[in-house]
Amino acid sequence: MTMQIFTKRAELSPYLDTLRERGQSIGFVPTMGALHRGHMSLVERSRASCAITVCSIFVNPTQFNDPSDLARYPRPIEQDISMLQAAGCDILYLPETEDVYPEGGQGRTFDLKGLDRLWEGASRPGHFAGVAAVVDILLDITHPDKLFLGQKDLQQYTILRQLAATNYPATEVVMCPIIREAHGLAMSSRNIRLNAAQRIHAGSIHATMEYARILSSILPLPEARETGRNSLNGLPGFSVDYFTFVRLADLSELEVLDGTEPAAIITAVIVDGVRLLDNMVL
Ligand code: AMP
Repeated sequence: MTMQIFTKRAELSPYLDTLRERGQSIGFVPTMGALHRGHMSLVERSRASCAITVCSIFVNPTQFNDPSDLARYPRPIEQDISMLQAAGCDILYLPETEDVYPEGGQGRTFDLKGLDRLWEGASRPGHFAGVAAVVDILLDITHPDKLFLGQKDLQQYTILRQLAATNYPATEVVMCPIIREAHGLAMSSRNIRLNAAQRIHAGSIHATMEYARILSSILPLPEARETGRNSLNGLPGFSVDYFTFVRLADLSELEVLDGTEPAAIITAVIVDGVRLLDNMVL
C-alpha cells in the first residue's frame, strides 16, 4: 500500500476518525525528520501492535531557543518519505507551520511540574514548553491509541508521559529502546554533524555509562558519578554538561542507589561542538 501524505489537519483528523469508527487502532510516531534507524524502530513497534501507523515530520520552531539551530536543522524530506514508505508507514502528516500553529499561535501552556527546568531544560529554556505545546496539538489531531516515543530523549518522554496521562488518558505511551551505531553512539539526526572518526570516538559516552553502572555497585554513588564525568571530560574534544544518576520517576538526582526505586544514568556531552544526549536505565 502506498503511504498517504496529509499536509492539512482539517483533512487528516476526519480521515482518522473514519478509520477509528471502523475499529482500526492508530499508532502515532511524532518526529522532526532527518530519519534514521532509531525512528524506524518506532515505526516498526507501531506496526507490530496497531492497524494504522501515522508518522509526523515537523521541525517545531517553538522548541528551538537558538534560531541558527532551527535554521540548520537537517531536512532531507525526499529521503525521509522513501524511508517511511519502505518501513510500511501508512500515513504521514507533513504540515507547514501555519497548519500546526494557525494565526501565529504558540499552542497551549502546561504546568510541567519543574521537569522542564532540570537537565536539558536548564540549558535550553522554553524547550520543553515548545515540545509539550506541539505534541498536545499533534495528539489533538491524531488521538492515537498508542504514542511511540524514544528512550533516547528520556526527559522528553517523562514530560510527555505526564502530559498524555493528564490530557489524553485514552492514549497509551510506549517507550522504545535506544538504537545505537556500531560503536555505541546513540543514533540522532544531529550525528550527521560528526565525521566517521568522531562518531566512533563518541561511542565512549555509552562505554562510560556502562563503566559508571558497574562502579555504582562497588563505590558510593557520588564517586561513581565523578569518575564517569571526569573520564569523559578527559577525552580530547569532550565537554560534559551533566553526567549523573537520577530517579526514573521524576529525574531527580540520586545520592544513593539502594535498589528501592528505578534509576537511570543521564548525560549530555558536547563532542567537537555537537551536543549529544544519552542515557541508560539501570
Ligand atoms: P526527533 O526526530 O529527534 O524529534 O525524534 C523523534 C522520536 O524518535 C523521539 O521519540 C525520539 O526519542 C526517537 N528517537 C530519536 N533517536 C532515537 C534512537 N537512537 N533510538 C530510538 N528512538 C529514537
